Amino acid sequence: MFSLLTTYPASAFFRMTSHIRPLIIFGPSGSGKGTLVAKMLEDFPDKFGFSISHTTRKPRPGEKHGVHYYFTDEDTIREGIEKGDFLESAVYGGNIYGTSKAAVEDIAKQGKVCVLEIDVQGVKQVRNTDLNPWSVFIKPTSLDELRERLIKRKTESEESLQKRLSKAAEEIEYGTTPGNFDKIIINDDFETAYQELKQFVVDNVLKDD
Ligand code: 5GP
Repeated sequence: MFSLLTTYPASAFFRMTSHIRPLIIFGPSGSGKGTLVAKMLEDFPDKFGFSISHTTRKPRPGEKHGVHYYFTDEDTIREGIEKGDFLESAVYGGNIYGTSKAAVEDIAKQGKVCVLEIDVQGVKQVRNTDLNPWSVFIKPTSLDELRERLIKRKTESEESLQKRLSKAAEEIEYGTTPGNFDKIIINDDFETAYQELKQFVVDNVLKDD
């Protein structure tokens, strides 16, 4: 299954029916990006639409099919990727994740900015299309703090926790490399981080359309 990505690369030729640039929100697991995105969607319901990804990961308590993710199985997602139904896909922590072209198109048709909460492999693939995305990196204050947050969240097994933490250092390096992201937000305090995100989208992303 790990050959999936090299066998079926992202569609570099995907063209959306809309000119609206999507917004990528990227950050290590436990950085708080999901909470920031949820608040932004709540504050700007007419402006942003969340791209609901497909995943082979099992739902966490409270996660709903068709809201947080489309929960699927490996054969089905592989088939979809093979058929070219996905804008990008990645293997993360032993599970497959992917953004379907349909999910992105639906949001574009509504005239909204599509919000993509994706990992580093996905970020690179979307950059390889002509979508010209905006990109924001949500940075945790430290790896120790990230570990604390993930433990407190109680959503991960010990194995999954270790996988996520081992990825985090690499993700922080990618996120803080100059030129990789339009905006870096340090998520030390939620309110401060959210205000920074809001300011960025109002001054840039929403000025765009
Ligand atoms: P989680 O299992 O914590 O929901 O997500 C694990 C990682 O996968 C996070 O970094 C998240 O942003 C990323 N992710 C979620 N959906 C997608 C997707 O459709 N594509 C890619 N490439 N990454 C995704």
